[in-house]
Amino acid sequence: MTTVLAADVGGTNIRLAIVSDKGVILEAVSTPAHFSKRDISAKKLLSTLASAFLDFLDDKTNVTAIGIGFPGFFLGNSGVLSSSPNLPMLKEIDLGKALSNTLGLPVVVQNDALCAAIGEHRFGAGMGRSNIIHITLGTGIGAGLILNNLPYTGEDGMAMEFGHLCINPDDHARVCGCGNTGCLEAYASASAIVSQFEEKSGTQMEAKEIYQYSLNGNKQAKEILLAAGAYLGAAIAEVVKILDIRYVTISGGLSAAWPILHPVLMKHLNARVIPPLKGKITVVRSQLDDKAGLLGAAALAFDIKQLR
Ligand SMILES: [Zn+2]
Repeated sequence: MTTVLAADVGGTNIRLAIVSDKGVILEAVSTPAHFSKRDISAKKLLSTLASAFLDFLDDKTNVTAIGIGFPGFFLGNSGVLSSSPNLPMLKEIDLGKALSNTLGLPVVVQNDALCAAIGEHRFGAGMGRSNIIHITLGTGIGAGLILNNLPYTGEDGMAMEFGHLCINPDDHARVCGCGNTGCLEAYASASAIVSQFEEKSGTQMEAKEIYQYSLNGNKQAKEILLAAGAYLGAAIAEVVKILDIRYVTISGGLSAAWPILHPVLMKHLNARVIPPLKGKITVVRSQLDDKAGLLGAAALAFDIKQLR
């Protein structure tokens, strides 16, 4: 059986999987990495990735290619990392070629959120659709666009920075990790839910606990989640006005709060789209959970697509 190695590179760990061409994960591991340090060098990054891959590949002889989802911007389908917002030392690195030379296999590398969109399109809730917007609701908010069955990267790989859409232009709006104020991510990401709850209640807890609190009737928790859902709906409406795409999929840890987020999201989405689009947009929760990115990286490794 032909298989590929898929990797999802995060700030604190690298997830690796052997994936079949049907999108079945045959074997998976998670190995610690310390990419949360902003001063990591290209050399250190490459050696950490290469050794994690070599350890996992070991004697697996039926792996034909490697696909990697990475938190950064890539020039089209070249595997060249143009920049990474959280790892500012890394610029203009041909990650694909460098890893391919070391590992002796074809390597494709793409933005992690776009990989999640590719995974959702190929193996998840977006199967059979020509156009989807996929949103990842986690510590941050990412998104990827599949347009006419192809992943859309934009000029320098920076398309669909959905989490940084401005949903509050007020001078006193919340500050985002990107340095701007009023970004969606500063209101509707898991980390934003945590900070807002801490500010209101004085208690620090994880987003999933805050969701549980809201289910148990905690007013502050519920208000924050309802506001997040409303902002998400409003932001999706703006994207739909530009793209006229009818199908939106959402994955990521915070999507667990779906029963609270989805109704309010749909209400605000339908209130803001242009009249002919009201009631025409479907927003569904991913069934791939946190595997969308891995499966998208695998899909790219199986079939290196012509990116736009
Ligand atoms: Zn931002």
